[in-house]
Amino acid sequence: MSSDPIATPDRRGLCLILSSPSGAGKTTLARLLLASDASLGHSVSVTTRPSRAQEADGVDYYFVTRDRFEAMRDAGELLEWAEVFGNFYGTPAEPVKAALAEGRDMLFDVDWQGASSIAALLPEDAVRVFILPPSGEELSRRIYSRGTDPEHVIEARLEGAEAEISHWGDYDYVLVNRNVEDSLAVLKGIVTAERHRRHRQVGLRTLIAHLAPPSRTR
Ligand code: 5GP
Repeated sequence: MSSDPIATPDRRGLCLILSSPSGAGKTTLARLLLASDASLGHSVSVTTRPSRAQEADGVDYYFVTRDRFEAMRDAGELLEWAEVFGNFYGTPAEPVKAALAEGRDMLFDVDWQGASSIAALLPEDAVRVFILPPSGEELSRRIYSRGTDPEHVIEARLEGAEAEISHWGDYDYVLVNRNVEDSLAVLKGIVTAERHRRHRQVGLRTLIAHLAPPSRTR
């Protein structure tokens, strides 16, 4: 193996980064995309936020105390981290390194800060998609109808939405989530196209070497 493990697999994995304001439908889309594509792994973040009713530890997030989070952060175990709505969120580094070394793709559900850090750390691998709600009314409706967060968090999410949206220009793709089915199809299309980018098809060199006409290989 070469000293750069990321350069060795037949296919170079991609980091599909999804960001959006709360209430744009990102988590639902991420779940559906992951369920539809066995080659796409999920980067499970660490967070100090309390778990919501439907969330499972180790599946949606690793729910940890602030002390534990700070210990992981200080030990360099996080690829990136950020404070969002008063809680800490971070991406464990090890699973990402392992996935890229093996040519596997990973999905990241992170805010604009996480997206920007991952893109700076892994510029060749990051594919950033920003998901927008179809209207301001729909955004507020979705944030309120979630009903699982305390009022002050809902208020913060409404305010935070504007700040998050202001970063849309840093993304490679922007998707207006009018309905889940169409948006899922678009996301699948992006993943398919990005997997075909020349620089990710590391194994092509071997194929191309074998495609030379027999007369020229003699
Ligand atoms: P929620 O509390 O709604 O699950 O997430 C709040 C925000 O934190 C969302 O925008 C989500 O994408 C973001 N987030 C989740 N995990 C991470 C992470 O590991 N790093 C960063 N930077 N943001 C994250």
